[in-house]
Formats: sequence, C-alpha cells, structure tokens
Amino acid sequence: MNTIKTIGYAAYSRGAALSPYVFERRALRDNDVAMEVLYSGVCHSDLHTVRDDWGWSYYPIVPGHEIIGKVIGVGSKVTKYKIGDHVGVGCLVDSCMECDQCHRDEEQLCRNQPTYSYSGFDRITNEPTQGGYSKHLVVREEFCLRIPEKLDLSKAAPLLCAGITTYSPLWTWNVGPGSRVGVIGLGGLGHMAVKLASALGAEVTVISRTAAKVADALDLGADKVLISSNEKEMLNAANSFDLIIDTIPAKHGLDPYLPLLDIDGTLVIVGQVGPMDEISTFPLLLGRRRIASSPIGGIRETQEMLDFCAKKGIVPECEMIRMDQINEAFERMEQADVRYRFVIDMASLNYK
Ligand code: NAP
Ligand code: ZN
Repeated sequence: MNTIKTIGYAAYSRGAALSPYVFERRALRDNDVAMEVLYSGVCHSDLHTVRDDWGWSYYPIVPGHEIIGKVIGVGSKVTKYKIGDHVGVGCLVDSCMECDQCHRDEEQLCRNQPTYSYSGFDRITNEPTQGGYSKHLVVREEFCLRIPEKLDLSKAAPLLCAGITTYSPLWTWNVGPGSRVGVIGLGGLGHMAVKLASALGAEVTVISRTAAKVADALDLGADKVLISSNEKEMLNAANSFDLIIDTIPAKHGLDPYLPLLDIDGTLVIVGQVGPMDEISTFPLLLGRRRIASSPIGGIRETQEMLDFCAKKGIVPECEMIRMDQINEAFERMEQADVRYRFVIDMASLNYK
C-alpha cells in the first residue's frame, strides 16, 4: 500500500486553534496496519500539547491518542489483524522492543524512550508522528489493540488513554475488595478511575472542588464524595485512604491531600506533568506516606484493561462532537465542563 493522503486537524503554532491539515501517512511497512479512524477521544494532554505546556511540541501538530479505527490495509508480515477488524491505538506507537522493560511488556517505560502517537519521532525515518484527529493512521501491529466485540465502538476510545492511565496504578497498588481509593478531579481520567476502582471492589471516594458533580459521581459508582474546598470535610476525612489517584491537570500543592492517606498510603500523580507547588514532608514522615506517579500502561496491560471493561460492561461517559467543534471542546475541558469525555466522530471530517 502506498502513502495515504489524509486530512486531520492540527495546531499550526503554539496555542493556535486547530484547523484542517492535509498530510500523508507512510507507505505500509511489513509489520504495519493502516486504518480509517472512526472515533478519537479528547484528552487534556492534547490541549497541553497544543499549548506546548511540556516544551516538546512541534508544529503543525495533530493531537489525539485515544483512537478507534477500522483496518483498511495490512503489511505483508502482519498476522494479528486483517482488513475490516476494529482496532485501538493509544499513546504508544513504537518502542525499542529490546530493553528489559519492553521485554516485560512495559513499553511505556522503554529505556530508549517509547514513541508517542504525537509529540514523537518515527524510529526509522525520524519524521514527527501525528495523532488521531485525522482520517487515517498507520501503526505497527504490535501497538494496535484488539477491540472486544462487546464494547460499543463509539464509546471505547477514552479507554485507550484515560482507561489505561487509571487502570495501571490500580493494579500496581493492588486495589481490590477492601481498598479505600480516593480520586481527585472528576474529569476524563477521574471518571474512569471511579468506574475501574469500583469494578475492582474498592470503596471509592471522589474528591472534587465543588458539589456540582456529586450526583454524577455517585451514579458513576463512587461511594462518597469529598469537597476539597470544604476544610472541615477534609479534616474529617484524614487517614481514610490507602490510595489516592490525583488527576488534576495543573500545577498544585499536595498539602491538603496527603493527610487524607492512611499510614503507608500512596498518592499517585497521574495528572500534572512538571513542577508542583512546594510540599511539607510532615504528613509523609508522620504517616510513612508516599507520593508516586505513573505513565499510561503497557500494551499487554492495555489489552487486559479492554477485555476487563468488555467483561464488566464498563463504558466511558462520552459526549460526541464533530471535528469542527474541537476548539469549543478544548475551551469547555479547560473549564472542567465535560461529562466526562469528548469523543470526535471522525465521519464528520471530510475533504472539502
Ligand atoms: P480533565 O478531563 O480536564 O479532568 C481534570 C479534572 O481535574 C477536572 O474535571 C476537575 O475536576 C479537576 N481540575 C481541573 N482543573 C483543576 C485545578 N486547577 N485544580 C484542581 N482540580 C482541577 O482532564 P483529563 O483528560 O482527565 O487529564 C487530567 C490530567 O492527566 C492532564 O494533565 C493530562 O495531561 C494528564 N494525563 C496523564 C497521563 C499519564 O500517563 N499520567 C495520561 C493522560 C492524561 P473537578 O471539577 O471534579 O474538580
Ligand atoms: Zn491522554
């Protein structure tokens, strides 16, 4: 299969509104899968990247790393997928596949740096990668996920980033029946953390800034809601969690949250990437508490998560938008006004 002329939505410069961008996907290599993108989830990382919050963006850049596609072509050595299959692609499109971490199926921790769906460089040609806000995608087969038949395709996209990013720490920290889990921030990642932790049998508390999302949190499966702006409620909740998953997408302090952990409890930062406010070590020392962080998850674990969601009937809460509504969606996401993930119907993107 030759190169594919495709169209996407790109930011042409730092912080610019996204607009149409015509470009080419590479000709299929032996182990490549070509797909038509059907749905693309909108992660807060897409917005951080458009704004170059992390300092590694290039332009034009096509965001999108929660991708559901239909296979339209396969390389000569591809064995796992055939034309017509439904596949998923998340944040990873390649890794060295040779280091100890890749051998342990933890490609997200590749010693030679994994290649991301966007904000990355192809390992062979060094061309910048471009993400899922586009009509077509070409990805090596090892980094494609099989979408279980039971999953609704139009709602599965957010699992590829929000799902795995919250599933992975829940497993790393052995969450199960009897675990007390707090989830800070009820957005894309947060609502998946609630659904997954509750399906694993944990007692789940949403920690949100206002009371606006209380009813939703309980509907999603949370047992309790804690309002972080209410000092008294926060004090009363001291020592009540084994694990806290912090999804806040901005620089913040941890002093209000660390005392919520019980002895030996862990707060895992999955939200903010970069500097945090100064912290006091008092609550760490006095309760032998820990602060940790965690990036997405490996390919095998992502497949396990998809299968787990299919088995348990877990589906993200999605608000379907057209491609040309993306800039408005970014604005709403910035205001925490999304319930709970925007998903772009890629059928809405066509050549003019
Ligand atoms: P999101 O949908 O915008 O949700 C974030 C939630 O955090 C909001 O709904 C809001 O919840 C709360 N929040 C927002 N701004 C806040 C602030 N200034 N202070 C306190 N709380 C605030 O974002 P997302 O897509 O879930 O992504 C969250 C973060 O995770 C982003 O920074 C993203 O880049 C990062 N991320 C990391 C990984 C990883 O591998 N670790 C993977 C994906 C995304 P309430 O209204 O309930 O307060
Ligand atoms: Zn993401």
